[in-house]
Amino acid sequence: MIFYGKHSVDETDIEAVVEVLRHQFLTQGSVVPQFEEALCQYTGADYCTAVNSATSGLHVACLAAGVGSGDLVWTVPNSFVASANCALFCGASVDFVDIDKQSRNISISQLIAKLENAKRLGKLPKALILVHFSGLSCDMQAIAEVIAPYEVVLIEDAAHALGGQYQTEKIGSCQYSDMAVLSFHPVKSITSAEGGAVLTNS
Ligand SMILES: *Cc1c(COP(=O)(O)O)cnc(C)c1O
Repeated sequence: MIFYGKHSVDETDIEAVVEVLRHQFLTQGSVVPQFEEALCQYTGADYCTAVNSATSGLHVACLAAGVGSGDLVWTVPNSFVASANCALFCGASVDFVDIDKQSRNISISQLIAKLENAKRLGKLPKALILVHFSGLSCDMQAIAEVIAPYEVVLIEDAAHALGGQYQTEKIGSCQYSDMAVLSFHPVKSITSAEGGAVLTNS
């Protein structure tokens, strides 16, 4: 049988949890800022906020981007539902940019065509949410150049991409984006049972 995901929890992980269980604070304690700092160190992003899941991370990223009722958010169809639902949580509408057959990530030629068309129709998106499929990075520099004239907030759904790399930077560095969102669900790169984080340089 091939499992969808299989977590690896060793004795040091269990000891770390026991240490928290003996602490005065079970949530919101000192381990959270330590974890946020470690994520900044690893990815190179300036700021990190831990949340209870990547779903919540995407939701607050959209809120921080100012996404609201009447807005449009674009994402890719080759993803988990949260990449699109976060826009609906904010009262916005969702539209999709298709993926590239080779990379499984957003198609840059389709993105260019869709942006040109949306500009003509006056229907540009407030935010674009990219997915780094299975940890393979989107071409961030190319995408940042394409969207530069349009004032679109760029959010990376890096839920399964912690540990991946783009050019010389780790995924999550936000070198070319406004925010990146990580998941720590058991099927992802590292797990806190449930959990997520939002990274940003702003
Ligand atoms: C798993 C996943 C999420 C949601 O992560 P949770 O932490 O379970 O909320 C969001 N986006 C993508 C691409 C995912 O694979």
